[in-house]
Amino acid sequence: MAERETALLRMTAPLREPFEIPYHDIGSELGRVRVALVGGVHGNELNGVFVLARLASYLRRVAAGEIGGQRLLGRVLVVPAVNVFGMNNGNRRWPFDGTDLNRMFPGYDAGETTQRIAHAVFEATREAAYRIDVHSSNVDFEEMPQVRLYEPTEEERRAARHLGLAAVIERRPDKVFTATLGHGWRSLGGVNLIVQVGRAGMLQLPHCTTLFRGFIEFLDHIGVLEGVELAEIEHDVLAFSERQTFAIVSEWSGLLVSPLRVGDWVKGGDALGRVFDPFNGEEKHVIRAPVDGLLSGVRRQPLLFQGDLVACIQLVGTESTHPPISNPGQ
Ligand SMILES: [Zn+2]
Repeated sequence: MAERETALLRMTAPLREPFEIPYHDIGSELGRVRVALVGGVHGNELNGVFVLARLASYLRRVAAGEIGGQRLLGRVLVVPAVNVFGMNNGNRRWPFDGTDLNRMFPGYDAGETTQRIAHAVFEATREAAYRIDVHSSNVDFEEMPQVRLYEPTEEERRAARHLGLAAVIERRPDKVFTATLGHGWRSLGGVNLIVQVGRAGMLQLPHCTTLFRGFIEFLDHIGVLEGVELAEIEHDVLAFSERQTFAIVSEWSGLLVSPLRVGDWVKGGDALGRVFDPFNGEEKHVIRAPVDGLLSGVRRQPLLFQGDLVACIQLVGTESTHPPISNPGQ
């Protein structure tokens, strides 16, 4: 059998039907799992869910010989959505107990529901040589499609570039991150990547298209897909160290309006956004880029308070003197 769709875990739930976490096992006759792709650990991060579901559909068609000239040469496991109940109501967390699933890894098979879910995901992805966990930022903030690395190996740095996303951004892990899926995977060896794409609660088709293309390129590069012909990307893939992220935090409150797109290049002094008084409509302040660089993230929630993150700029060839920032959305 060339392909299977089955469940990682089946459990009963109070006052409802039993639930399961479905996944795709594509090319199961090809031996060990080469690549494991996971999305929707947070139930409102829909860009990743959509791209992975579409990718699974595509890979099934390749496996079935329906796409001329392409062949699947390695087994791929795809879990589009881990937090299946959170997705029902657009909830980042596991709805019944408010648990953040991405703080439960590596999980525990005799534990609470979310510990069991984490365990099932961890075990299913254990044997893969390449593992990718897809996230979005939070509902207030949009990030350009990017690979996010935490104390990576050199192999991971190289592999990250093969997704063809415009930015590969290193961040310093903090203490909370020891219970994430991405961190847990590190104990298993192999190549472990986190992809961050867009804003939670939204389906952003241009970002989805970029990421889908990235996965195809990646699978081609590692020899899992054969016969792929992709147009050249029009951007460079730039790598940024953990000291090359400049976070712009607001000193103002009001209604924030920004016309910029993530992935734009900005120059020091450019307007990143304008802050308006919500009652009299007066422009109170223009928030300007303090540095030149790549706009990797921008606030989309217009209600702005002092201290809110407004934007992230990636610096090229220079380092920020600001402290490294926290990680919205993961
Ligand atoms: Zn997330």
